[in-house]
Amino acid sequence: MRRLSEVLKETYGEKVYKLSLTSGCTCPNRDGFLSYGGCTFCSAGGSGEFAAAGSLEEQLEDAKKRIQSKTDARKFIAYYQAFTNTYGNLERLQKLYEETISREEVVILSLGTRPDCLGDDVLAMLGRLNAVKPVWIELGLQTIHETTAERINRQYSLAVFEDAYRRLKAMGITVIVHVIFGLPGETESDMLDTIRHLSNLSPQLDGIKIQMLNILKGSKLAEEYEQNPFPLLSLEEYAALIKQSAAILPAETILHRMTGDGAGNLLIAPEWVRNKKKVLNTLNAVLKEERNEFCTERIRGGDGEYHAASFQLCKTVGNATIKRLWRKL
Ligand code: SF4
Repeated sequence: MRRLSEVLKETYGEKVYKLSLTSGCTCPNRDGFLSYGGCTFCSAGGSGEFAAAGSLEEQLEDAKKRIQSKTDARKFIAYYQAFTNTYGNLERLQKLYEETISREEVVILSLGTRPDCLGDDVLAMLGRLNAVKPVWIELGLQTIHETTAERINRQYSLAVFEDAYRRLKAMGITVIVHVIFGLPGETESDMLDTIRHLSNLSPQLDGIKIQMLNILKGSKLAEEYEQNPFPLLSLEEYAALIKQSAAILPAETILHRMTGDGAGNLLIAPEWVRNKKKVLNTLNAVLKEERNEFCTERIRGGDGEYHAASFQLCKTVGNATIKRLWRKL
């Protein structure tokens, strides 16, 4: 498993920043086409609380200004996160996305969407855009388990996801899958089964975003939680799951995110996600531990002895590289 920041730096020679933009799309799971309720964890903002508003020009300039006030950012990922960004008038969407990638500073177009909103016409549009600049499609699967999917009102099956995944990959489009840990009713082994299943996808999964379930004001889940509170993962439990996921995921799969956006005043629980610094430090520490354990396990020679020099080498080159080499042996 590799980290997104490392890969972007390797590819573009510098840090690449994300611009959160709004396409004006809604979601079939909220506008009545499939249901009015939406996924139970989804807030009124369509799971994209930080996107800018206004014309494309205004959104891009506002989002860039915010980032450039703190950094010397020059390259950006245009990220349409909220709602379902392939749902709506295709002519309008194609024009919007073409305009977005025509900007020199935009190096990647990333679209959050649902696998049931990727018909042939949409895929053809994505193929045209992908021929100009890389297109990433982000699919909010959250879990492979159908009972949980029903409970959270996801409104599509795993088979629908897998079909869309294969068609996107056949077109050479990068696919990033979102997973939530801590969904109601799921055990640790259910969550890790989701990671195992995604790790065995063919073609191999490009990227994954994992996040802790956040109970947000205005969501159906908030009502459920208030009426009948269910247990949420502690930071330690969540970190242990991240560590186990890192050990399961293929060496080439990129970890795009392991914390949420920090939903601020919308957050009801768990409180610990507010302390982003502590969360990141804890998660980085467990990833380091996973790398050390991986190296320790494999660096024993045929005599079963521990070889300190090899261990150091393993730690230096990083676990993604060492896992890649190891699998070739
Ligand atoms: S999470 Fe995504 S698919 Fe689910 S209701 Fe919200 S916008 Fe729609």
